[in-house]
Amino acid sequence: MENLESLEQRYPLVKEMKENIPVFWENPDYLRTVTFPIKGVGPEIITDAKERLQRFEPVLRTLFPEMEDGIVSPITEVPSMKKELEMFYQSKINGKLLLKRDDLLPVAGSIKARGGFHEVLAFTENLAIKTGLISTINDDYRILLTEKARKILSQYTISVGSTGNLGLSIGMIGSALGYRVAVHMSADAKEWKKNLLRKNGVKVVEHPSDYSQAVEKARNESDQAANSYFVDDEQSPLLFAGYAGAVHEVQEQLEKRGLKVSSEQPLYVYLPCGVGGGPGGVAFGLKTVFGEHVHCFFAEPTHSPCMLLGLMTNLHNHISVQDIGLDNKTEADGLAVGRASAFVGEIMENLLSGVYTITDDELLSLLYLLEKSEGIFLEPSALSGMKGPIKHSQKNPNAIHLVWGTGGSLVPEQMRDDFIMKGKQFYQNESFK
Ligand SMILES: *Cc1c(COP(=O)(O)O)cnc(C)c1O
Repeated sequence: MENLESLEQRYPLVKEMKENIPVFWENPDYLRTVTFPIKGVGPEIITDAKERLQRFEPVLRTLFPEMEDGIVSPITEVPSMKKELEMFYQSKINGKLLLKRDDLLPVAGSIKARGGFHEVLAFTENLAIKTGLISTINDDYRILLTEKARKILSQYTISVGSTGNLGLSIGMIGSALGYRVAVHMSADAKEWKKNLLRKNGVKVVEHPSDYSQAVEKARNESDQAANSYFVDDEQSPLLFAGYAGAVHEVQEQLEKRGLKVSSEQPLYVYLPCGVGGGPGGVAFGLKTVFGEHVHCFFAEPTHSPCMLLGLMTNLHNHISVQDIGLDNKTEADGLAVGRASAFVGEIMENLLSGVYTITDDELLSLLYLLEKSEGIFLEPSALSGMKGPIKHSQKNPNAIHLVWGTGGSLVPEQMRDDFIMKGKQFYQNESFK
């Protein structure tokens, strides 16, 4: 990386970013209409993922009865929260405010169910064919639940590095299928997530370092081990495809509400961003279906704006938030990532409308407000999208604002109460408005 001074000269936003001041970055390279494939990734990844998940549906339903409807989450309108937001930020929101409830996704309780389950199932499918458990993808996959199959799968280790939720997702599905699973957790990972995994027979490896180093250690260890498969959160097309698969669900749910996305009724989507795979995959999917009528924004904590930094400078994973003096410490544990995915960043270059940052005080205030106004609890990371409709205030009264609520349903009761209480205090201390 060039020195900080010349970086600041070229990108004045860095001056505010390094002081942890919230910023809004509009992508100068944004194209309303993008052409696919982008960097070799085309819309077929979405159908591919969807069909794979369908093939595994009987297996998933047997393993997890709560998976009855598949990997699907509802969309809810949150009109009371809209009023709270308008008062809190002293700014009007035109259009509807909708919330995607990925916090309610079964088993994993976060958006990571989409990517994580898909990748483990893709690996399983290949392994099943290679070992002769199934001969074609048209076979009955429930054979994978037999003792014979479990004996084979148990010889393999699936490993992953994570700030928490991806580990939770891979750990739950992996151990249920009979794999050995090793989850490498960064220092940010919450104790309850580690305990839940251990209870499910998953090996949890704790690292005193941040996310990027935990991933690297996990990758190295997996590379050296026999029969080990590594889920690479920094550069996995299979995770990306699983996230992108959310698009047909969104399309159906909007239609059911009588909402047709068009030039008169554009869709604005606000996505919490960590390393980039989750929000990147979803944005990719949305753009393939809604084209020029959808505009996607990423939201990051002021302490961890890795994707903003990577995209703005075009340096992608060659720059980290530590390079501009930030500490990468945030209550939004799912977003505590200092270096973005280059695989995702490059696909986002023309596809993403912008990125904004939000302080932890705001995240917790919004957490409190959402609980108070709608009775919905989300984990701190998942609230970052909620500021989007304010940052990107629209003149269009028909605009549809879709905030991606990325996780929270597994957070233990006691911790919820703590977050809500803390949020209330920040909310009442209005100094940062
Ligand atoms: C992982 C996660 C994100 C962001 O996904 P990335 O793929 O890391 O960008 C957002 N919110 C929650 C709750 C998460 O767990």
